[in-house]
Amino acid sequence: MLIVGGGVAALETALALADLTPDRTDVTVLAPNGEFTYRPMTVREPFGYSAAQRYPLAQVVHDAGAALISGELAWVDPVRRTIHTEADEALEYDALVLALGATVTKRYAHALTIDDRDLDDTMHGLIQDVESGYIHRLAFVAPGRMAWPLPLYELALMTAGRAYDMGITLQTTVVTPEEGPLAIFGQAASSAVSALLSRANVETITSAYAEVPHSGEVIIHPGDRELSVDRVVALPELFGPTVRGVPRGEHGFIRVDPYCRVRGVERIYAAGDATEFPIKQGGVGAQQADTVAESIAALAGASLTPSRFNPVIHGMLLTDTRPRYLTAHITGGQGFSSEITDAPTWSPPSKIAAKYLAPYLEELDLLVGPRS
Ligand SMILES: Cc1cc2nc3c(=O)[nH]c(=O)nc-3n(C[C@H](O)[C@H](O)[C@H](O)COP(=O)(O)OP(=O)(O)OC[C@H]3O[C@@H](n4cnc5c(N)ncnc54)[C@H](O)[C@@H]3O)c2cc1C
Repeated sequence: MLIVGGGVAALETALALADLTPDRTDVTVLAPNGEFTYRPMTVREPFGYSAAQRYPLAQVVHDAGAALISGELAWVDPVRRTIHTEADEALEYDALVLALGATVTKRYAHALTIDDRDLDDTMHGLIQDVESGYIHRLAFVAPGRMAWPLPLYELALMTAGRAYDMGITLQTTVVTPEEGPLAIFGQAASSAVSALLSRANVETITSAYAEVPHSGEVIIHPGDRELSVDRVVALPELFGPTVRGVPRGEHGFIRVDPYCRVRGVERIYAAGDATEFPIKQGGVGAQQADTVAESIAALAGASLTPSRFNPVIHGMLLTDTRPRYLTAHITGGQGFSSEITDAPTWSPPSKIAAKYLAPYLEELDLLVGPRS
């Protein structure tokens, strides 16, 4: 069993396999990163809160009973069931899991792009400028194909809240192609988020496509409305990972069937942001990983019937005060049952809801304290 990647989907797969097939599989993880970063908490860094937790990848992989190889996948030979690394090493597999994440691309040349690898560096100066009263109009923009939905709203709400606390007048606008804010969480949750944004004095322009032709200028389609602001913050666009030997779908994302098997090849599975599933969310990737692990466990002879991927999306929305908890059962990319609560409805109440990874990290934090 070979898992490629060192993020949420890869680690959830390894932990799930340890539970479902304790003695049946040899699991190896191939990843270039030495640490697993808890990406959702990076949004707090520019506001002076503690850094997002970082965990040694070797420890997590070891605790899942797997072996870690440091390296990068170069290409896959599905006929020989072999992968080749960038260092020209060949590794054979009985089953291969691709959990490579997505490629982050800056959409607008004249905007600050949200990227968790350097969010503090990118946003810290902006927050200081808000606090010092140098900035009075800010736009938060989502490009046509949305990346992760939560951080855009979290940054807008936290920035507006910081300005309010400092007695600074700040006009904050979110421009988004969604029909309503966080529409993937369904009607009820989206309406409640709308009300939350209004109370925080954040204007939301929905069903809108933005261009940023010059610094401080946002053109909104349809209608060619123009917004003049001091700064623009934007989500990136995501693309799938290009892997030679693996069929690709639109924008490079990996096409999978309801059991998360990669279409058109055998014994290759995929989970997480790398797949074509339109909602890019750690919790969704973890559920795909659980689906993959069940399929592989059945392949390895475990007595279970693999379930189909049937996503439930949980989102903890950070605000300038207490967080809100959103849940939706999804079909076709839109929530069909939708709820927002002040208290968590999943356990542990983590930003990334993951059956195995979330309780594992919670226990690790209790044992050694969160690391940053
Ligand atoms: C600022 C921010 C806030 C977010 N907030 C939330 C939230 O509140 N809740 C939530 O559920 N989700 C949230 N997300 C989304 C969530 O972080 C992602 O959906 C999740 O990280 C995707 O997991 P993944 O394992 O698919 O990909 P990744 O986390 O991107 O991991 C991919 C892994 O593959 C490795 N890799 C890449 N290429 C290769 C290669 N060629 N060979 C070997 N390894 C390779 C990488 O090194 C990495 O370890 C947020 C994201 C951001 C950026």
